[in-house]
Amino acid sequence: MNFYSLNGQAPQVSFKDAVINGIAPDRGLYFPEKIDPLPASFFDDIASLSKHEIAFRAIRQFVSLDIPDGPLREIISKVLDFDFPLVELGENMATLELFHGPTMAFKDVGARFMAQCLGYFSQGKNNEVTVLVATSGDTGGAVANGFLGVEGVQVVILYPSGKVSDIQERQLTTLGKNITAMEVTGSFDDCQHMVKTAFLDKDLLAHMQLTSANSINVARWLPQLFYFLFAYRQAQKKEMEIVFSVPSGNFGNICAGMVAKRLGMPAKHFVAATNLNDIVPNYMKNARYEPKPSVATISNAMDVGDPSNFIRIRHLYGNRFDALAQDLSSYSFTDTETKAAMKHIYRESKYITDPHGAVGYLGLKKYQAEHPNTYGIFLETAHPVKFLDIVEDTIDQKLPIPPQIQKVMDGTKKAHAISSYDQLKSYLLSG
Ligand SMILES: *Cc1c(COP(=O)(O)O)cnc(C)c1O
Repeated sequence: MNFYSLNGQAPQVSFKDAVINGIAPDRGLYFPEKIDPLPASFFDDIASLSKHEIAFRAIRQFVSLDIPDGPLREIISKVLDFDFPLVELGENMATLELFHGPTMAFKDVGARFMAQCLGYFSQGKNNEVTVLVATSGDTGGAVANGFLGVEGVQVVILYPSGKVSDIQERQLTTLGKNITAMEVTGSFDDCQHMVKTAFLDKDLLAHMQLTSANSINVARWLPQLFYFLFAYRQAQKKEMEIVFSVPSGNFGNICAGMVAKRLGMPAKHFVAATNLNDIVPNYMKNARYEPKPSVATISNAMDVGDPSNFIRIRHLYGNRFDALAQDLSSYSFTDTETKAAMKHIYRESKYITDPHGAVGYLGLKKYQAEHPNTYGIFLETAHPVKFLDIVEDTIDQKLPIPPQIQKVMDGTKKAHAISSYDQLKSYLLSG
């Protein structure tokens, strides 16, 4: 399948080129030229299909021609080697746990899928691809883990010194091999600025093939639609209309869910739950999209002031506000409300949520207050242990440390300290 740029000033490209370019030359996001619904029988019989088979049938149309069926099945079995359980929290509510992967945040699936695709495309070539990515926390770990040992791909991750959690830092600095961590004196914005400068540096680009691994890349974005199909497979027997509530920052995950609906998955509605970064909740109120600087919250993976994938959501609905509002509601919550929700869920159900999942829960509650006869699923996007201090303080309980996390705690940190773009550039050119 071909992909076009949402800015409309760049040629259509294959899946392969969309993955390698990351973003179109006119700075637009890539979008699939069409989305063909899956046959109704796929959804009727979904309970009889394995997760690998579901994923294969759902993603095939987007990648075929560039990745034949055999290798695609292999990629999927490497990416999806853990579970996505739906845990019931009452009569008409459940949470979909997306944190059973190696770095315990939902970004594992997208990062691994992209890594496997790039690895496949660079087979038999001698020029390497370099993935350059800035992280404020979770992306770095998922990308480091997903790309570890993938041949033909070098990964350079920039993170702001002293501004990521201890666990997050270890997840991206202890792996070695083809993963290099750059500890930047400065903020996340400084890291992002250096990455952007590199992508525009003609001198650098003449020496290397650079790509990015954030959720604007189609290979990181699209596989997230699997989650919604896996949830549907487990919830379908409820015979109630299903509503998904997705804790959202850059809106890649929820947008993939809306693509799943376009593939024919029966879902009544989506709720985009945010923290105080309320650009989309405001848009759904007054139809005006007004980005603003992000504010820091306890659900920090969603501290985004200009959500990059929202343009894909609007495009999916032909930029028609009323059509979008039929399928999407969006609400914003404070940190105080989020902590109260974490306490409430723990008291009522003995279930521990992380701050992001708790925001998803709040969004679902608010929607279901007016639509009680629905089956609500909120996505739990990170394991609570990733936000250890906040979670332990809020519910006044100690959390056991899972083996994936213990393993990185025991690793040795290795990072290059840099404070300017020139230092990054000379490192990249020296490789
Ligand atoms: C990245 C992230 C989100 C936000 O996902 P988007 O696809 O950017 O909306 C939510 N929760 C956690 C834990 C994350 O790491």
